[in-house]
Amino acid sequence: MPQKTFSIIKPDAVASGKAGKILALLEENGFRIVAARMVRLSQRQAEGFYAVHRERPFFGSLVKFMTEGPVIVMALEREDAVKKLREVMGATNPANAAEGTIRKLYAESIERNAIHGSDAPETAEQELKYFFNTQELEQL
Ligand code: GDP
Repeated sequence: MPQKTFSIIKPDAVASGKAGKILALLEENGFRIVAARMVRLSQRQAEGFYAVHRERPFFGSLVKFMTEGPVIVMALEREDAVKKLREVMGATNPANAAEGTIRKLYAESIERNAIHGSDAPETAEQELKYFFNTQELEQL
């Protein structure tokens, strides 16, 4: 059964002109782009999205980074999408990311790491709803 997950091409990757290459890599890995939109996140949106991290020392810096420029928010679909996207993304810290992963190829640092992907099916559902309405998530 196909599954949906949520992803963001982060401001570093959009600004450095890697968005197209990242989209191509996702498609090559079997993901269908169900919905996509370029947005500039407000501080409130970024804080809400990363609320689970609000006690972490890097929270302020993360919110500043995520609001510094446009991002591309996406709904992606494939078999086992949540797990497969995490594999294609690579480890949070690009220094630990496997060869060929998006973060190994394009991330600048543990914070400026090119892409977000939901970490579990429940999170994917919440995050998809944070950015897309039901109609946008329906099969086209
Ligand atoms: P992810 O699921 O791999 O994106 O990682 P997390 O959920 O742990 O962290 C969310 C995001 O916060 C990461 O993608 C990074 O952009 C940022 N981040 C995580 N750990 C650190 C850290 O130790 N320092 C800084 N500055 N940013 C971090």
